[in-house]
Amino acid sequence: MEPNSPFTPEHELFRKTVRDFAEKDLLPHKEKWEQERGFPKEVFKKAGDLGILGVCFPEEVGGSAGDWWFKVVFCEEIIRCKMAGLAMDLMVQADISTPIISYLGTEEQKREFLIPALKGDKIAALGITEPGCGSDVANITTRAETQGDDYVISGAKTYITNGGRADFITLAVRTGGPGYQGISLVTFPTDTKGFAVGKKLEKLGNHSSDTALLFFENCRIPRRYVIGEENMGFVYIMKNFQGERLVAAVTSIAGSELTLGETVRYCQERKAFGKRIIDYQVWQHKFAELATQIEAGKRLNYHAVSLFQAGIECSKEVSMAKLFACDLAQRVAYDCLQAHGGAGYMEEYDLARFARDIRLMTIGGGSSEIMKEIIVKKMKWTR
Ligand SMILES: Cc1cc2nc3c(=O)[nH]c(=O)nc-3n(C[C@H](O)[C@H](O)[C@H](O)COP(=O)(O)OP(=O)(O)OC[C@H]3O[C@@H](n4cnc5c(N)ncnc54)[C@H](O)[C@@H]3O)c2cc1C
Repeated sequence: MEPNSPFTPEHELFRKTVRDFAEKDLLPHKEKWEQERGFPKEVFKKAGDLGILGVCFPEEVGGSAGDWWFKVVFCEEIIRCKMAGLAMDLMVQADISTPIISYLGTEEQKREFLIPALKGDKIAALGITEPGCGSDVANITTRAETQGDDYVISGAKTYITNGGRADFITLAVRTGGPGYQGISLVTFPTDTKGFAVGKKLEKLGNHSSDTALLFFENCRIPRRYVIGEENMGFVYIMKNFQGERLVAAVTSIAGSELTLGETVRYCQERKAFGKRIIDYQVWQHKFAELATQIEAGKRLNYHAVSLFQAGIECSKEVSMAKLFACDLAQRVAYDCLQAHGGAGYMEEYDLARFARDIRLMTIGGGSSEIMKEIIVKKMKWTR
């Protein structure tokens, strides 16, 4: 183990659990689940049983109270299933839809939504993006009218991961006036009357993931399903984004590292003009550059994770980590595909899928442009 490694023997044990799960339980089904545009619900259950979903949650809700380095381990290993879509669905379940319920939810919300989600018995989604508004979260229009002890919700959400089969949604709704101060988060059970899944959306990549357009028509839920305080939802969403963005950054670097390794191995075997591709200096230099950038990205990620883990305000570092890692992964995909030649364009190689799937990373969970907006606001020279 390298000096100052954040990983303990417990983390390494967990690494083995996730790696085995990815390579033995998931990877063999890659072709089928990608073609079928989905995977069985039992995958959530198996992940729950292995303690993968709850690893960073408190013991009272069925978790194992692990630190954030367990989450890093999860992201670094789950990508070995070679289905970024499936990995994303698990991350939405455990890292994106549910942490806010753990921090701020009532006992009832934890019992009804969080605990079954961490066991893999219920599927969770996060509903923020709308047909008319994505990056500009402060302007969502899905409305929750107060009627006595209830909210009556009407509107639409789109691009929602796990949306087609979620049992509940951590849902952003407008409970107050315009702008960021009028937004609340609620736990929304999808068996509520008036809720409908519009259609499962076809995508460029992440084919094994379920992505849906959702409609809410006069859906009545109890007001006690609000998460934390009413009209504080925007603040909670921004807090929640930090974990989501770190997950995206770590996953992008891990995927890049795996892809580069596989590409180097391919180039050690493939010959052109009597020489192995790897023997051409142009490729040696390209791989040296990518390896250097991947290492830099990993260090930036680990720095941001250390701050996040210590509870230090680190939205600048998290945004930098996501920006750097997700942009870098695009270059890795492009260069590694190029190094494979025509083989890189063929479905039988993992590269084609990686190149398709990784394209999402500079868009979802806050685009690269939005990361730059956050970074620039935090830079002292702008003051
Ligand atoms: C596969 C997939 C899964 C997703 N899963 C979920 C989910 O589970 N839950 C959920 O709520 N959402 C989800 N999303 C939505 C995702 O978070 C949004 O797509 C993302 O936030 C961008 O919003 P948008 O698509 O509306 O783009 P827009 O906001 O319309 O932006 C369009 C372009 O303009 C740029 N832009 C926007 N504002 C600025 C600015 N101020 N300065 C410069 N450029 C700017 C953007 O960076 C982007 O390049 C998912 C999306 C995809 C594709």
